[in-house]
Amino acid sequence: MLLVQKFGGSSVATPSHIAEVAKKIQQVLSRGHQVVVVVSAMGDSTDHLVDLAEALVAIPSGREMDALLCTGELVTTALLAMKLEQLGIPARSFSGSQAGIHTSYDFGRARIESIDPALLRKALAAGITPVVAGFQGVTATGDVATLGRGGSDLTAIALAGALNADRCEIYSDVAGVYTADPRIVPDAVPLSCLSYDEMLELASQGAQVLQTQAVAYAKGNQVVIHARSTFHDEPGTQIEAEPVIPVKPAVTAVAINRHVAKVGLLGVPDSPGVAALLFSVLAEHGINIELVIQSVSHDNLNDIAFTIDEQDVPRARSLVEQCLVTLHGKAVVIDDKVAKISAIGSGMLGQPGVAARVFKALADSDINIQMIGTSEIKISCIVARQDAEKGLAEIHNAFGLNGLVDVIEDPQ
Ligand code: ASP
Ligand code: MG
Repeated sequence: MLLVQKFGGSSVATPSHIAEVAKKIQQVLSRGHQVVVVVSAMGDSTDHLVDLAEALVAIPSGREMDALLCTGELVTTALLAMKLEQLGIPARSFSGSQAGIHTSYDFGRARIESIDPALLRKALAAGITPVVAGFQGVTATGDVATLGRGGSDLTAIALAGALNADRCEIYSDVAGVYTADPRIVPDAVPLSCLSYDEMLELASQGAQVLQTQAVAYAKGNQVVIHARSTFHDEPGTQIEAEPVIPVKPAVTAVAINRHVAKVGLLGVPDSPGVAALLFSVLAEHGINIELVIQSVSHDNLNDIAFTIDEQDVPRARSLVEQCLVTLHGKAVVIDDKVAKISAIGSGMLGQPGVAARVFKALADSDINIQMIGTSEIKISCIVARQDAEKGLAEIHNAFGLNGLVDVIEDPQ
């Protein structure tokens, strides 16, 4: 079997961690498998590199920032490759460029445009274990570009796709994907499997187990992901198209995003083009919108409210105030003390009453819902930030996720 195994920052945080990872790889090789290893930067070293840059320059250029950030992963590749060699395993470090990962020019959040893993194939054929630097690739003109924070997951998944690997294993310090963040909901339990769509919703709602772009890539290329713990032998979580499970809970997991702000425009005209104007202006400035609510019109006027990332509040405020003047609206209100809590599960498809149960769980603990958004497999509520963690735990509880007791017979 050909395996891609990715080890995250905390799994390679110190030389002794790297030595343990090397032993783990040795065991897999001794069972006759081939492995392509992908590594993150050691521990928090990417954060330290960011701090170094910020100590010198307020807004460094994208190219130089990526030239700096890519070094974290390079350090790990060389250290792990030399440790493997010392164990008698032929191994070689590869930069993203040497691994054939070609990217767009969006420094700091580059997209993978193509992969030519010829050198990796050659190494494998010669019995050499490649150790690839995650999080980076090369532009058409030879500049290093990074794939966004957490981007080593994407490297691993993309390589697994390009090499047609049998498995892509993502190792970290957690035992896979949980029903909720265990730091917030202590009785959260690990999930044995979930679908790409559920994982995408979870990752984009703030669960930090896997990078969102990486999950999207896995979905597009049908790469099965196995997320598991590096130093413990728990089974971990398998993420694939439609996991076969005998019974499906209505809600698989809950997620929280505390970094949300609510923006409202009150008393704008109820006429065609108003929402288009407002959201085009925000889009032009790269401000991402999430939930949107428009009230039922009264006296030919509307209120429009939406959520954004709290970081975007200062920029959004001035843009929205300009729009208010253009539209002769009445007022702008901004609340940056809200949070979003979401219940996610493909089991809720076609199952009535799930939203009502989410709302009731919040009502029973006297938590006011400010906004609601839904997709086919997700129900999100905006609540006051101070209530959010309690609300999350209540929803987790209401759906019995701690013991996974809330199951319905799978109709199939
Ligand atoms: N080292 C990078 C980061 O910390 C990429 C990664 O770990 O996946 O974001
Ligand atoms: Mg990292």
